[in-house]
Amino acid sequence: MDRIGRKCKVIAAANQKGGVSKTTTTVNLGVGLARAGNRVLLIDSDSQASLTASMGSREPDRLDKTLAAVITSIMEGQEIEAEYGLLSHEEGVCFLLANIDLAAVEVSLISAMSREYMLKECIEAVAPYFDYIIVDCMPSLGMLTINALAAADTVLIPLQAQYLSLKGLEQLIATITRIKKRINLALVFEGILLTMVDARTIYSKEIIEMVRGNYGQRIPVFENYIPLSVRVAEASAEGKSVFAHDPKGRAALAYEALTKEVLAHGR
Ligand code: ADP
Ligand code: MG
Repeated sequence: MDRIGRKCKVIAAANQKGGVSKTTTTVNLGVGLARAGNRVLLIDSDSQASLTASMGSREPDRLDKTLAAVITSIMEGQEIEAEYGLLSHEEGVCFLLANIDLAAVEVSLISAMSREYMLKECIEAVAPYFDYIIVDCMPSLGMLTINALAAADTVLIPLQAQYLSLKGLEQLIATITRIKKRINLALVFEGILLTMVDARTIYSKEIIEMVRGNYGQRIPVFENYIPLSVRVAEASAEGKSVFAHDPKGRAALAYEALTKEVLAHGR
């Protein structure tokens, strides 16, 4: 691996609600950014290891070079080489895997010194080699998500286009605002991304309008949304991005447009 001498942007994909497309967005935005010529690292920060599975690793619990091992070493004050555990995917992104060990690590973080900054330390070691690092957060606002928000430059919030999703959004924004105040002054919103949008229904349109109306003043809402598409689910089952699975499909076009918006936000 070579150092690239450019600033690396760290994006946390976060929402304490499960099933809103955090992992899917991490993979497809990551591959989108790599296709645009960037060096990209995806970090699985969820003990359920969905990102790990969608990158094609079928038996994560048998792996030992995972994020859990890296964080454990950092907590113990050991040096770890920057390349430790980094794997590459055929679509041009690197990734750092997770497995169930991360659940125990999250518990031990609670009593660690500087517990909010363990992931930041890990990310700082690899940042010189990448243009973008995306952290796929777990569906909670626990220590690992706080670590991701402490390490990130921006937070991207995937939001499923449903009324119930809006309820959790206030709590998420409150948490992010608190972290901004106490832990990471530089943290900004990358934006709210509406996902699983069924554009045929008026209902979806209403939600989009509502999100823009209620939050658009405070938080950027991406122009592009991600349509509900069975291709997306198929792609992750195959360990691929939508770009490889269905390059001309609506989901691939949507993720390409999202990639352009993220690139336009700059680093
Ligand atoms: P999270 O990481 O927030 O829990 P995932 O990215 O794992 O959410 O998505 C949850 C489920 O929904 C997965 O089975 C995924 O394949 C599916 N999914 C995600 N985005 C879409 C979409 N745009 N259209 C259809 N299914 C989707
Ligand atoms: Mg996930």
